Parts: sequence; structure tokens; C-alpha cells
Amino acid sequence: ASQDGGNTERAISRIREQGLHERLMLESDLLRALERQEFELHYQPQVSLTTGKVVGAEALVRWRHPERGLVSPALFLPLAEESGAIVPMGRWVLEAACDAAREWARLGFAHVRVGVNISGRQFKPESFVPMIRSVLSASGLPPSQLDLEVTESVTMQDIDTCAAMLRELRELGLTTSLDDFGTGYSSLTYLKRLPFHTLKIDQSFVRNSHVHPHNAAIVEAISQMGRQLGLQLIAEGVEAIEELNLVRAAGCHEMQGYYFSKPLPFNDFIALLVSGRIL
Ligand code: C2E
Ligand code: CA
Ligand code: CA
Ligand code: CA
Repeated sequence: ASQDGGNTERAISRIREQGLHERLMLESDLLRALERQEFELHYQPQVSLTTGKVVGAEALVRWRHPERGLVSPALFLPLAEESGAIVPMGRWVLEAACDAAREWARLGFAHVRVGVNISGRQFKPESFVPMIRSVLSASGLPPSQLDLEVTESVTMQDIDTCAAMLRELRELGLTTSLDDFGTGYSSLTYLKRLPFHTLKIDQSFVRNSHVHPHNAAIVEAISQMGRQLGLQLIAEGVEAIEELNLVRAAGCHEMQGYYFSKPLPFNDFIALLVSGRIL
């Protein structure tokens, strides 16, 4: 028994109940938001370091909440993952991204590919490749315009199964990227066995690589290894000209980051393409 006659315990349990209540609300909110089409995609340009041209865009989900405004994925994705809402949401993201890329092609930008983030709960051997096949054929997007980004944690579970899925996706004609590379625990042997097309060097190494020699060394080592394995290399999170120069000198093929552009709403991304702006 506590000194305040149980007031504290009651308060704590009330908070816990409210916490739980809020969570349940939010889970159903996510599915309702999906039905009400409150999610939208923003597109962050990916730029060739040889030509300076926009060659792709990563689709990043946002929640246009009726009261809270534009909500960042950091605030709702953990819940979406935990509750499983990420599966229908992820399918919607894929469909919307394919539609967007179709529109770019219609406007004369058929070479601009769209990158879609895939969660571990979507990347299941039984269902993932058939889902991709069905979304692609419904949209009519040429598979070569689609890139799928998965993180190391997604691929860690069973390397042989994962390798088989990546091969199937490659046979479908699309590309796959290993996202946030360097932040997980995968060994180089492991990387060699997984037929990814692209490595995305994590922004934590790129950011301030010009002031932290260790970061620069990591970017250079990853680039050298990636090139030797025949992988495409994208440097993420490039914010400053010094970082740009460093990733270019390291031999990265493409960059993505605020230095060129933040993620843009659909219309703004099209305006950027039409403007022909280069790096
Ligand atoms: P990510 O896949 O690593 O995406 C890159 C994140 O870095 C994006 O944050 C982007 O806005 C941000 N970023 C890009 N360039 C810079 C830069 O130069 N400086 C800084 N400081 N940040 C930069 P965002 O849009 O908040 O997305 C966060 C994460 O949410 C993504 O990280 C991804 O893991 C996840 N995510 C976003 N959309 C989806 C989606 O549709 N499905 C799934 N499964 N995950 C998604
Ligand atoms: Ca990503
Ligand atoms: Ca990333
Ligand atoms: Ca990330």
C-alpha cells in the first residue's frame, strides 16, 4: 500500500488505460484513413552523378490528417507495422507509386523510375511476388520503372528464401535496392549472396562525412566494395556541397538528399521534371 492511499497507482493505471485506448483508436484510425484516402506520397528526386539529371524518385508516404495536418511516417509507421495495417497500406503505396510513374511516362519521362519502401510484414515468400505481379499488371507500368527498397532487417530472416525472392523480382524485370546500408549487421558474404541491384548508403554515414573522417572512410569503403560486387550505389541524405563532392569522388552513381531537393508533392515533382533542372 502506498502512502497516498493508492492515488498514485490509480493515476498510473488510468494513464496506462488511456495509452492503450489511444493506441486502439490509432490503429483503427489508420485503416479508416486508408479508406478515406488520407495518405499521399511525396517524391524525393534521385539524381545521376554523371549527367546531373533526375533519374528516379523515392516515394515517401505522408498522412494528411484532417486535424493534425501532414503527419510524418515516423509517427504512424511503427504503429502500422505493429498492427499489420502496413500490409494494406503498403499495397496502396505501391499502387499509387505505379500510377505516378505511369503519369511521368505519359508526360515524356519514361526513364524516371519510382522507388517504393517495402516493410518486412509485406515481404513474405507466399504473398509478396504474386502481389507485385498483380499490382504491376493492373497498373500497366513497365517493371523496369519500378524499384523496391528493402532494409537489411527485412532480408535477414532466411537468406536462401530472400535470395530466391530477389531473383524472381529480377526476372519480372524490376530492380531492388538494399536500403539504409551499413546500419544493420549483414556480412559481406551475405551481401554477395543476395542479388540486389542497388545499395543505398545510409544517410548517417553521408551526413557530415566531410567533417568526420570516419564517416568518409565508411562511405569510401562501402562504395569500393559495392562497385566490386557490380552494384549501383546511391548516396542518401546529401545536404551539403562538400558531401556531394565526397560521394561523387567515392564513385557513387546517384545522390538523393536535401542538397538537391526535399521530398515533393506529386505536382511539384512533375514541375521539377518539366523544368529540366539538373544538379
Ligand atoms: P528512408 O527509406 O531511409 O527514407 C529517407 C528519409 O530520409 C525520408 O524521411 C526523407 O525525407 C529523409 N531525407 C532524405 N534526404 C534527406 C536529407 O538530405 N537530410 C535529412 N535530414 N533527411 C533526408 P521520411 O519521408 O520521414 O521517411 C522516413 C522513413 O519512413 C523512411 O526512411 C522509410 O523507412 C519509412 N517510409 C516512408 N514511406 C514509406 C512507405 O511507403 N512504406 C514503408 N514501409 N516505409 C516508408
Ligand atoms: Ca528508403
Ligand atoms: Ca534509407
Ligand atoms: Ca531509414
